[in-house]
Amino acid sequence: HTHTKRHLWQQSDFQESFPKREVNSHKGNHGRGLVIGGSESMPGSVLMTTKAALRTGAGLLTTASVKNVISMIAGKSPEAMYISTSETNGCITGIDNIELSGFDAIAIGVGLGRSDETAKGIFPSLLQFNGPIIIDADGLYHLKPYLAAFASRQPPLILTPHPGELAALMDVSVSDLLMEPFKYSSEFTNRFNCYLLLKGKYTIITDPDGNQIVESSGNPGLAKGGSGDVLTGMVLAMVMQSRSIFEGINNACFLHGKSADLLVQERHSEQDLLAGDVIQGIPKAIRTFS
Ligand code: AMP
Ligand code: MG
Repeated sequence: HTHTKRHLWQQSDFQESFPKREVNSHKGNHGRGLVIGGSESMPGSVLMTTKAALRTGAGLLTTASVKNVISMIAGKSPEAMYISTSETNGCITGIDNIELSGFDAIAIGVGLGRSDETAKGIFPSLLQFNGPIIIDADGLYHLKPYLAAFASRQPPLILTPHPGELAALMDVSVSDLLMEPFKYSSEFTNRFNCYLLLKGKYTIITDPDGNQIVESSGNPGLAKGGSGDVLTGMVLAMVMQSRSIFEGINNACFLHGKSADLLVQERHSEQDLLAGDVIQGIPKAIRTFS
């Protein structure tokens, strides 16, 4: 860990590394993404992840969820494609019908619910996927018994926990974690060969070598259900489009906070800002790079 670096990600980093589209590009050049998530009691989560991924430039996006969720959300995000999974009691219990090799990256976890059957039906299949996997929310809740297996895959593994989710994965208290978040983060990425985005007022992003980025954009208007689901979609989209995984994660996080900051300056208060507004704010945040 002696050669690792720590850096504050700023507008200039964003401007330098934000992906540019070639004039003759086609949708296949900007990533075929798959979002797996949602359940009958949390249909909105996966809708927000889907919309955020599309709004952040994903070339093609498919969302896999249970049938009722798809019928609720498809009309609200018509640009996406949809696949229904196996299900029990309104929760996903199998993804064997999905040809994972057709995708460039997968984001899994938002709104899944906490039934054991859901984890058993998803994780063993997912381990066969040969590209970047982003795990968030209830996906992190289910992850612990599968973590070693995910860590031994070659392709990038990206986890996006808030402090409660990381503390549970590491068997430490949230207060201990928050006393030394840089140390715990680099221990984790070193041990599990992954990228870690530890969310908060200051978000800390750590790569497998222990290099660390701090993000200071964002405001307490984001302290609301759904904000993290939006970020997950943005990470999926940016990871597929960027020169490196690390830059993709850093820029997704920057854009997310920037969108919230511009909205609170111009239109909303921290009280009334909703996660859906943050998606609508992405275009303005992107335009600040030019
Ligand atoms: P989650 O806890 O999964 O819903 O994610 C919440 C998102 O909102 C993360 O991106 C956090 O970094 C962000 N967030 C939450 N509270 C704040 C805050 N007080 N200031 C800045 N960002 C925040
Ligand atoms: Mg969350």
